[in-house]
Amino acid sequence: MNSVEELEREIKNVDKELVKVEAEIAKWRNKQRELHEKKTKLKNAINKVKSDSLASVDWAGTQYEWSDKVKTILQEVFAIKSFRPKQLSAINSTLSGQHAIVVMPTGAGKSLCYQLPALVKPGITVVISPLVSLMEDQVRSLTNKNIPAKLMTSTSSKEDTSLALNMLKDKNAPIQLLYVTPERLAKSKRFMSNLQKCYADGRLQRIAIDEVHCCSQWGHDFRPDYKYLGILSNMFPNVPILGLTATATAHVLNDVQKILNIPGCLVIKSTFNRPNLYYKILEKPSSQDNCLTILEKLLKYRYKGESGIIYTHSIKDSEDIADGLRKRGLKVGSYHANMEPATRSSVHIKWHDKHYQAIVATVAFGMGIDKPDVRFVIHHTISKSMENYYQESGRAGRDGLRAECVTLYRMQDIFKVSTMVFSSVGSLEHLYGMIKYCLNGVLCRRQLIAEHFDEDWGNADCNEMCDVCSHPNNNIKEISLETHCKTIASIIDNAEKLDTKLTAQKLLDAWFLKGSVNLRHKGKEPNFSRVIGEDVIAYLLVESYLVEDFHYTAYSTISYIKKGPNMDLVQDTNFVLLMPVRKYSTFELSSPAPKDYNTTTIIVPDNEDKIVKKRKSKETSSDSKTKKSKIMIIESDDE
Ligand code: ADP
Ligand code: MG
Ligand code: ZN
Repeated sequence: MNSVEELEREIKNVDKELVKVEAEIAKWRNKQRELHEKKTKLKNAINKVKSDSLASVDWAGTQYEWSDKVKTILQEVFAIKSFRPKQLSAINSTLSGQHAIVVMPTGAGKSLCYQLPALVKPGITVVISPLVSLMEDQVRSLTNKNIPAKLMTSTSSKEDTSLALNMLKDKNAPIQLLYVTPERLAKSKRFMSNLQKCYADGRLQRIAIDEVHCCSQWGHDFRPDYKYLGILSNMFPNVPILGLTATATAHVLNDVQKILNIPGCLVIKSTFNRPNLYYKILEKPSSQDNCLTILEKLLKYRYKGESGIIYTHSIKDSEDIADGLRKRGLKVGSYHANMEPATRSSVHIKWHDKHYQAIVATVAFGMGIDKPDVRFVIHHTISKSMENYYQESGRAGRDGLRAECVTLYRMQDIFKVSTMVFSSVGSLEHLYGMIKYCLNGVLCRRQLIAEHFDEDWGNADCNEMCDVCSHPNNNIKEISLETHCKTIASIIDNAEKLDTKLTAQKLLDAWFLKGSVNLRHKGKEPNFSRVIGEDVIAYLLVESYLVEDFHYTAYSTISYIKKGPNMDLVQDTNFVLLMPVRKYSTFELSSPAPKDYNTTTIIVPDNEDKIVKKRKSKETSSDSKTKKSKIMIIESDDE
């Protein structure tokens, strides 16, 4: 028998060995992770090659056996004269049996891409969609066109559900489109077994998945039930899947293909450029009253007699601003999630029928707005991301005529939004994307939007339809921020010593020698206005020279400012940081907005992605009324 001492010595040796082994394991784990990452990248690259090669086919042709029928259905059943860009490509690809993902901005007409093919051949197109109200709208409008469509949701009556389920089995059932919620697929065995029967009978034509980005956690509205849709491609081989979304980032699209088990499938993407929208950033005054004055002028003069939306940050804002505008004699309605559905829908209708000039809304006012002649979308407070901004502002000008997207920006609003969103992953990064867009006074605003959607629209595609391009500033001043960075850093250090936390407002005060004396720095006041000072702080924030530090209080969350990772660079002797000084361009609040926009843009058939031809008109907005109206031709791909 060994003594206890001997055994304990043995344990120590084993422990030493274990430490070595664990170090080895960690090394190999790292290696394993690296290899996995490499493999994923290679797989993505293969998928990209596959997708690109599928996309190089001209899908917009009219030589297919179904081409004549497609055209007839478009005109006779849907009463639509011609296709919008990429619609025909999507239709031909799914009729050819390809899996495809269609990426088009909201309002571009994605529904037609599965509704029309559903009518070309006998059999059923199953449509999966996350929103019951949108499905109800679609089924109603299809029924009005005498198209046999049914809907199955968790709220459908027993009889309706039975009827729909039997239609899946019954070869002679008059049905071409069946709308279901994703949980039907995930949870209803009876539905799945009937769908298998339908497939076995050769009647399952295709599966359309609307808002397909909902499968991805990287998308902005992930739905757990969408995960289950991955089984479809295995369960129903040879049935084409058609996913549709307005989310265009490569990350999400890759993820969606992976989850649906259709890696490397065809991706059909139409441009996100909305040439008829004019983008404008307005300086937002600090007092609510002055804000109301701006809104009042815009509604009374610039947008007299026109319809629009004013997006606000909170329910309280939407009510207060609506009240304020009503007191100033305007007809507006407020809209937010805390209202009864009946009240909300009555507000919507009053706006739709032009009884209200504007809806003052939170982002709850979104899905299902189908008013084509929205002439203005004003953001009283910035959106929480470019994605959101694009969606919200994109509700303007659906009719293709000129419309304006005006955003009121001031630094303070950054923190209104950041304190609301900061706890979810990636949200600050998204918000800072929006801030960059607002701070920008040099680049075309379209260019910033294009970058967000991984597109290249080129400078020329704006046609002076943003405040930067329409007021070119050839004399952009830049300020060097090196010394200012040092000052700001020292103010923060000093406050830390004094155990004081600085909000952006307090930091600005100290920098501009205002407020509490012991927080102020020792030098001179900056030689520019406080408005520019605010831009500097925001700029340093989005460039990570400063960071926000969130603290909860009993009633709210406060954002304090601390030094960010890039502030270390300031110590470097070669450090240079130049910020272009933004000037807010003029914007006439009190005269009517121009009716046209300055170009004739011709978009050629949908296999050519670019706007190929432009003609600039010399006409100015002021005399536009007397000139003959210019047209925008979006030539369809069927002619
Ligand atoms: P999305 O799903 O892309 O947001 P929808 O499918 O809801 O858009 O379509 C938006 C509107 O555009 C609908 O009113 C639809 O009837 C209309 N629309 C679709 N395609 C065309 C077209 N080719 N020509 C004219 N209107 C169209
Ligand atoms: Mg849609
Ligand atoms: Zn521009």
